Amino acid sequence: MEIVRLRCSVLSLDRRDRLVYWPDALLTLDGGRLGEARPLGRGAKAPRGVLDRRGRLAIPGLVDAHCHLPQYPAVGADGGELLPWLRRNIFPLERRFKGAYARRLSRLFFSELAAHGTTAAAVYLSVYKEGAQAAFEEGARSGLRLVMGKVMMDRGSYDTDFTATHPRESRPHASLRESDELCERWHGAAEGRLRYAYTPRFALSCSQGLMRAAAAEAARRGAFVQTHLSESRAEVAAVKKAFPGARSYADVYDKAGLLGPRTLLAHGIWLSDAERRAVAASGAVLVHCPTSNAFLASGIMDLPAARLAGCRTALGSDVAAGPSLDLFEVMRQTVFAQRLAAAHGLFKVPSRATPLKAFAMATVGGARALELPEGAGTLTKGSPADLVLLAPAAYDLFGPAADAQTALARLVYRGSRAAVRTVFAAGRRVWGRL
Ligand SMILES: [Zn+2]
Repeated sequence: MEIVRLRCSVLSLDRRDRLVYWPDALLTLDGGRLGEARPLGRGAKAPRGVLDRRGRLAIPGLVDAHCHLPQYPAVGADGGELLPWLRRNIFPLERRFKGAYARRLSRLFFSELAAHGTTAAAVYLSVYKEGAQAAFEEGARSGLRLVMGKVMMDRGSYDTDFTATHPRESRPHASLRESDELCERWHGAAEGRLRYAYTPRFALSCSQGLMRAAAAEAARRGAFVQTHLSESRAEVAAVKKAFPGARSYADVYDKAGLLGPRTLLAHGIWLSDAERRAVAASGAVLVHCPTSNAFLASGIMDLPAARLAGCRTALGSDVAAGPSLDLFEVMRQTVFAQRLAAAHGLFKVPSRATPLKAFAMATVGGARALELPEGAGTLTKGSPADLVLLAPAAYDLFGPAADAQTALARLVYRGSRAAVRTVFAAGRRVWGRL
């Protein structure tokens, strides 16, 4: 892997989560890591062999902690809330996720992730092992860091109505065996860039037995678990009906052993304080997906309450319920939705949403949630060389920004895919020209 030395601006958190802005800096990408990351003094000359990219701004690669690859063609397909939307727009697409189609779509999806400045993601596939296999092969080729899993649904699958109280029995053993085989093959593959996530879709599409077995296998193999928690009110009501013995939605997962530090829980909107405490105690991560939550009118996650309870948090596009893979948009909508909810008195705990909090969730928050290598989510000496070179002129008419807060606010409020020029993951260029 060639050594790349760059002179550009840098905007990042440091290892202690403090915002750093270096208008003129030097980054050395060496063997997948940053060998150097330091500001250059005023009037300094860059050492020889450095590519002069002044006018570009380097930020850490963004982390999308929740998205659905097979759903990508349905982005922007409007209409209805979660359960009817799944049946109408999503399940027909997920059923197709096999063969050459799955491979083509996977290739497109990973290239799109990179084009948006996303270098790591937690991705749901569909129920088919064959489609999942193609996605992992393409994922290995993409150079990105990916946590992925075959969706598990042993009841209320693509053909049935999962709101039924007596869902049909299907093939829990096949679902588990296929997940085990994929985990065996791909967990830790591609120099550790690929990891496996046992992916029970959500409580309504899984039997208690399947969830328990998935949790046990994931724990035994050191793999991740990803699922959805408390996204819409109708879903919460259906879960209550389907699991009359559980105290709450989170309790269904807790009883199955699914909650733990390698568990990614999307949404977590309609949670009680007791549920938040249980999630926090387990170390599981709540993945906030504000564009999806607005699109399906699911609700607004109470981030201050989640933080107060001690929950770990990250951000997700939740494509295709989120209409795009653009994490700049997701950061922006995090701030907007939280501020509006606070203004309407929806939250018990007063807390001000800021660009910095959203940026932290999309970088270090996501990196920790996905257990990326030490220092990921920052541009500091020794951290993984996962970074995005932006052209701030694409969104910042009045730049260059004089200080860190201004640079960050402009990035979060006005940034988008249109500003992404070059993307590196693990030191390899995965998008754009240098
Ligand atoms: Zn989702």
